[in-house]
Amino acid sequence: MAQAIGIDLGTTNSVVAALDGGEPWVITDEDGNELLPSCVGLDANGKLLVGTDAWNQYAAAPDRTVRSIKRQMGTNHLTTLGDQTYRPQEISAIILRNLKERAEALLEEPVTQAVITVPAYFTDAQRQATKEAGEIAGLEVLQIINEPTAAALTYESPDEDVTERVLVYDLGGGTFDVSIVDITGDVTEVIASHGNNRLGGDDFDRRLQLHLNQCFQDSNGTPVPPDPTVEARLLRAAEQAKINLSSHSYVTVREGFLGSQGAKPLHLEVEITRDTFETLIEPLLEETLEAIDRALKDAEMKAEELDRVILVGGSTRIPLVRRLVTEHLGQEASSSVQPDLCVALGAAIQAGVLSGEEVSAILVDITPHSLGLATVVETPFGLVPNRFSVIIPRNTPIPVSQSDVFATVRDNQKNVEIEVFQGENAIANENVPLGNFRLVDLPLLPAGEVTLEVTFDFDLNGILTVTAIEKSQGQQNSIEVSGLDTSRLSSHDIKQAQSNLDLLFNNQEALLAAELEGMEAELEAELGEDEEDSADLDPDTEALTVDAPDPAAS
Ligand code: AMP
Repeated sequence: MAQAIGIDLGTTNSVVAALDGGEPWVITDEDGNELLPSCVGLDANGKLLVGTDAWNQYAAAPDRTVRSIKRQMGTNHLTTLGDQTYRPQEISAIILRNLKERAEALLEEPVTQAVITVPAYFTDAQRQATKEAGEIAGLEVLQIINEPTAAALTYESPDEDVTERVLVYDLGGGTFDVSIVDITGDVTEVIASHGNNRLGGDDFDRRLQLHLNQCFQDSNGTPVPPDPTVEARLLRAAEQAKINLSSHSYVTVREGFLGSQGAKPLHLEVEITRDTFETLIEPLLEETLEAIDRALKDAEMKAEELDRVILVGGSTRIPLVRRLVTEHLGQEASSSVQPDLCVALGAAIQAGVLSGEEVSAILVDITPHSLGLATVVETPFGLVPNRFSVIIPRNTPIPVSQSDVFATVRDNQKNVEIEVFQGENAIANENVPLGNFRLVDLPLLPAGEVTLEVTFDFDLNGILTVTAIEKSQGQQNSIEVSGLDTSRLSSHDIKQAQSNLDLLFNNQEALLAAELEGMEAELEAELGEDEEDSADLDPDTEALTVDAPDPAAS
């Protein structure tokens, strides 16, 4: 049976894992690397670069390199690479296809199914875009699961019969999530989840980069030149300094030739202490502590009631993160699970469960946001529009299907507009709009006599379908909202994107073949010259011959 894989499609790095004998393991590339930088680019010859190769050219060619595409998922943002433009799901698909091929190389069989993780706080559109990215990469996405939930799946509860309440604090490159989960034996149930899908290590890098800019200005008396290559170099230097500051109390950042003043080249050389870095990022970390409090409140519990705190994500290697979380919760945060890998390992476990492998793990996930629609409410002062009527409250276990009945507000009202939102604000349009649709040609009756049943179906991937049925005369008139967001792709778009990707990857093979052919031709030409050279040898010169080793001798 072909294996299903688990993929952590991260902002900064991505990881792929599979199961072996019921145990998850990380699939490495041919050089033994576990992490694939989530970076895509084209080299000067138009050759596709994915991962480390793309990341390595970022500082020199930021205009030909794409990073942190996860932040654009679910939007209509277009990225230009070479003479083509790509949607966020197409760039993500390049990363996924690379991971798929990595898995196929090691497992020595085709891989067609995957579980992909997303931040718990990802919206419906962001989840949908992730699913589409998988499809474009040639993967059937068995399920989209939340990253902290996946991480919790790798955590083994010490006692089968005791329920442990665990807080998972997940701070990665681009997103932050905190979840409270109950783990009983093999069952992981998410109780509450909060976060910020625009907060992570990338923000720390940017703060440190701004600080480096200031240091440059202070020592050179002139600002950093507004050049994307210089900016990219400083951002990279900032990330490296940040990583080194996790294990050293100070680092020296040296970047030469960032600009010039007349004939004088301008360099940056500055010592950064861990204290300085901590001062820069502490306000951002305070936000994560507030999210912890909100999650605890949702779970109706106090910090002392937590049995364990697990740290997940590369940014939890920062000593200040561990210190603040530990102080805030009054207990040591544990990192018994591998912070960079556990999300992919958990996804592999879930992939195993869904593809029918022998795994003992059961996942019960929740809705991260309240879901509902805009309604008009009758008050003593008249009709008040734009109220948010929640159909599925936040933190409801999924899959879930819930309905409510609504009535028309005007006599002979012909149409109703169903506007769907997610969020926690009582005013509908203060929340995130998910889409809208109309029910038309309603029976002409007095206000309140035409009733509509609206059903929200939230599936295991965290994807929502809304159906409205007109009920007053027994006629069923329902509309499914499957194209909730304009960034969603039709099956035709996905097929088109798949063949574009095939072309892009096959093109690389052709380029590689052409490169090899060129190299061979060069080699042959050189050999030809050597032969000519040897023919020209002075008869008095001794020719050196090297015997090929005898294979039988070894
Ligand atoms: P993830 O999304 O979980 O792969 O985390 C990636 C983020 O972790 C990036 O912002 C990295 O710069 C950051 N990171 C990785 N290792 C370290 C480290 N030792 N110290 C601080 N940040 C790190």
